[in-house]
Amino acid sequence: MMTKKLPRLTIVVPCYNEEAVLPSSAKTLGEILTKLIAGQQVTTDSKILFVDDGSHDQTWETVQTLQAQNALFTGLKFSRNYGQEVALMAGLRTAAPYSDLTITIDADLQDNPYLIPTMVQQAADGFDIVYGVRNDRSSDTWFKRTTAQRFYWLMNKIGVHLIPNHADYRMMTRCALTALLRYHETDPFIRGIVPQLGFPSTKLYYKRRPRTAGVSKYPFSKMLKLALNGIFSFSLVPIRAIMGVGSLVCLAALVAFGWLGIDALRGITTAGVGPIMASLWLLGGLQLMALGIIGEYVGRTFAQSKHRPAFIVETDTYSNEFAQKITEGTRFQHQPS
Ligand code: UDP
Ligand code: MG
Repeated sequence: MMTKKLPRLTIVVPCYNEEAVLPSSAKTLGEILTKLIAGQQVTTDSKILFVDDGSHDQTWETVQTLQAQNALFTGLKFSRNYGQEVALMAGLRTAAPYSDLTITIDADLQDNPYLIPTMVQQAADGFDIVYGVRNDRSSDTWFKRTTAQRFYWLMNKIGVHLIPNHADYRMMTRCALTALLRYHETDPFIRGIVPQLGFPSTKLYYKRRPRTAGVSKYPFSKMLKLALNGIFSFSLVPIRAIMGVGSLVCLAALVAFGWLGIDALRGITTAGVGPIMASLWLLGGLQLMALGIIGEYVGRTFAQSKHRPAFIVETDTYSNEFAQKITEGTRFQHQPS
């Protein structure tokens, strides 16, 4: 009888100052993975990979304690804070050589972790990508819900088709992940890239829960940065909008000139510098705004052209363990003389 080859699963969890939730989240994820292993749905060396995104609290110490207690837990530590998207990419890049399936989930488990077994099953059913989608965001603040809604609307308008209410809770098989890793973006906007990859995909809906401990690591400034990153890395609409505004201003100027010409012929002249100043300020403002928008794209090209490393890893216990397993036996052993 042919035995089924089990997939090796890595659950990637980005963590930034998550000491308050990490022990309980690790316990829950550990139990879920243990059940999957016992049910022979994934290999016994499947892992939970915590990516410490340069935390200032006891996050890394907690990861180390967890590792010492249970071989299911491993960790990757950044040299500093790079942001959630970079942490996810780093975790996925690290997991890729040793994983058939990867699942990314936030450390606070606001996104229902009990859907993980269903995601694994859906991979077995032939789906390469499973998107976790929040169909009830009542636990989010009014501000977060409304701004998120506007953001999805705007992105859709400018031609970037995101999965509404899907953030970074998703399952990817090896082939989907290999495709994702071909994107070498300085500021990756993963939820925008993944739907572009293709492959059979499906969605799993759930109610987003409130954070059980700790505070959100996404203040307004970070949310705005992520949203702008989504727009500028996926769309040229802002540059085209400049063309539109520029054309409108030129048209208005032509009309104004015609008007002034007619008034001059009729002997009417307007006194005062007020209107001139106002239009100067308006045009100056518009030009600066336009330069800013173009500058955003030029800046991104500049950053990308330098090919700087996207992140620096300080410690990587995950790769160490697997690389050691692979080289064991073939490794040069120092023979005592
Ligand atoms: N996170 C990160 N780096 C950051 C900010 C956040 O790795 O610079 C992680 C954080 O630890 C969590 C996830 O990203 O696992 C989502 O953050 P959070 O739950 O604070 O966001 P919210 O749910 O409030 O949008
Ligand atoms: Mg959260």
